[in-house]
Amino acid sequence: MPQHIVTRFAPSPTGRLHVGHAWSALLAHDLARATGGAFRLRVEDIDGARSRPEHVAGIIEDLNWLGIDWDGEVVFQSQRLASYDVALAHLRDMDLLYPCFCSRADIAASATAPHGPEGPLYPGTCRALPQAERDRRIDGEAHAWRLDMAKAVARTCDPEWSALALPDIAGDTLEYGILPRAMRRRATPLAAGDVVLARKDAPTSYHLSCTLDDAAMGVTHVLRGSDLFAATHIHRLLQALLDLPSPLYVHHPLLLGPDGRRLAKRSGSIALADLRAQGMNPARLVANLRARVFPVGISLASA
Ligand code: GLU
Repeated sequence: MPQHIVTRFAPSPTGRLHVGHAWSALLAHDLARATGGAFRLRVEDIDGARSRPEHVAGIIEDLNWLGIDWDGEVVFQSQRLASYDVALAHLRDMDLLYPCFCSRADIAASATAPHGPEGPLYPGTCRALPQAERDRRIDGEAHAWRLDMAKAVARTCDPEWSALALPDIAGDTLEYGILPRAMRRRATPLAAGDVVLARKDAPTSYHLSCTLDDAAMGVTHVLRGSDLFAATHIHRLLQALLDLPSPLYVHHPLLLGPDGRRLAKRSGSIALADLRAQGMNPARLVANLRARVFPVGISLASA
């Protein structure tokens, strides 16, 4: 029997959605619809300082405007903190986590901080703290929890993940709902260093909650931007450590604005709400996005 495909769109409510979000959501939506699967919506609102209710309302409004419908209830990460706690406790019991008291400035000031795929790597300062010092500081000082990456990698046997490229999920695949054979990729998370699994200002992190939620929601196919390719190495490792199923991943190229830079909520990229206000026809926009025709000034980055 063919697999029941479950995809998802997982925006953070920290700003209005732009055309890149619409395209990404549409890819995941269309794959689910073409194969008789399910498309889920998850709001990644763990960032208490930046997540706003009006942006949650904006996400729903924008998807409704585009005619992108989802299955089941919307999942809010802010309501799933207890399950993140359980996983953190488990990883702590496995002796894979340590508390980190460093500030961003401490890390930036470390002359020896090497660079990873996403900027400076954590230099490991708190990994070496004696237990007595940890015990003394932990109650009074704000701290994050970091994964001891070297130990974590040593606990797993080079996990692999299944991957497809964007062209694999177009054309005949969508026409007939049959996916080509996946490629296997080896996870190499060591390059990311000791990533944060619970932040100083939030009881979880993107990596932990995203990995746990994809599993809890039964997501079988993750379609997301190539900016999250490095994150997939980390997520695959967490799946191996926590005994979770691993979805198949498709990383699509990002959309670029007129300035040649990737669309981003913060750089003032034109929001879907602005296009709506300008009178753009949503059905036309969706048809064009499906045909990889983007609004004026927006282009697809070469993969
Ligand atoms: N919440 C993330 C974002 O808005 C996306 C997470 C994901 O697709 O894994 O960039």
